[in-house]
Amino acid sequence: MNFNETLANLTNYEAGKPIELVVREYGIEAKDVIKIASNENPYGCSPKVIEAIRDEACKMSLYPDDSMYELKEALAKKYGVESQNIIIGSGSDQIIEFSLFAKANFSNKVLMAKTTFAMYEIYAKRTGTVILKTASHEHNIKEFSDIYKSNKDIAVIFLCLPNNPLGECLDKNEVFEFLKNVSKETLVVVDGAYQEFASFKDKNKKIDPKELIDTFKNAVYLGTFSKAYGLGGMRVGYGVGDKDIIKTLHKLRSPFNITTLSLKAAIEALKDEEFVQKAVIKNFEEMAKYEEFAKNLDIEFIPSYTNFITYKVKKDSSYICEELMKKGIIIRDLKSYGLNAIRITIGTKEQNLKLFRVFEDIYRG
Ligand SMILES: *Cc1c(COP(=O)(O)O)cnc(C)c1O
Repeated sequence: MNFNETLANLTNYEAGKPIELVVREYGIEAKDVIKIASNENPYGCSPKVIEAIRDEACKMSLYPDDSMYELKEALAKKYGVESQNIIIGSGSDQIIEFSLFAKANFSNKVLMAKTTFAMYEIYAKRTGTVILKTASHEHNIKEFSDIYKSNKDIAVIFLCLPNNPLGECLDKNEVFEFLKNVSKETLVVVDGAYQEFASFKDKNKKIDPKELIDTFKNAVYLGTFSKAYGLGGMRVGYGVGDKDIIKTLHKLRSPFNITTLSLKAAIEALKDEEFVQKAVIKNFEEMAKYEEFAKNLDIEFIPSYTNFITYKVKKDSSYICEELMKKGIIIRDLKSYGLNAIRITIGTKEQNLKLFRVFEDIYRG
């Protein structure tokens, strides 16, 4: 059967390997498997969230509040914007999808860094648009600027600040300078999935959504509850933008795209910023150990503004990942990005100690 041409060269997102797979394939007990592959919060989520969704469980027979009034109000308050500036998605993934469908098509282009969040390209391909990438793997604002100037029909630009899967982060000032020269007809997606981490480590990296969208009417900021807030399993993300943009993105949203429990979880999570702060602080304490560990093994790493670290290893990255998995540790191979590198999510102290021990054996062995 013939299908839409845009689907011919489309590959699916390679999701992090689940714990269940290691249990099945290597016969390791689930409790002994460490998953530090998908940048989830190793400390779980706020206990207040668990309590709240337990209470909410009895409402499962009812459709959720499709206006998402409470969550939008809470986010609007957090960022000092209005609820009409906010759209909620099934993960911020969905807002990436909406952003592309709102602007990209067969007759225009989208621009992104060479090595960045895979969903930008996957969703972009579905629209039939042309995908332009910078030459450098990491975000390079000069390259973005040069490509933008020499292509008149760029409909969407993706900036991942900080960038997954490499961990680097542009300074806010260089981003704002660049955006001054971007047409108001170009939608700029600023993905802040790891902003909770970056803004803590270095205030020059902090993107304030209100300042961004007040200064640049063509920008949309994305946030997620999947990383620092520890709610990856609940699938809640959001976009913050000019009311016009948000109104258009809403046209692409199906009703009830967030479940009752997910909504409740996100609302409660926002009431416990202390939980997030503690996780962020521990993240960077543990990250320092990963830097030290890499130096001792003479492994080059990318200084990270996130909750993961990328090692440019000298042994084959797939071999390392496979051997770690046999020992019940799941990390992320970056081979599919064309890099002999691995991405490790910073775990708890105990998880990290185990990783160091097993990794060193494999790497030196
Ligand atoms: C994890 C991630 C997201 C979105 O995750 P959701 O779970 O869909 O909210 C978006 N962008 C980047 C860069 C990410 O790493």
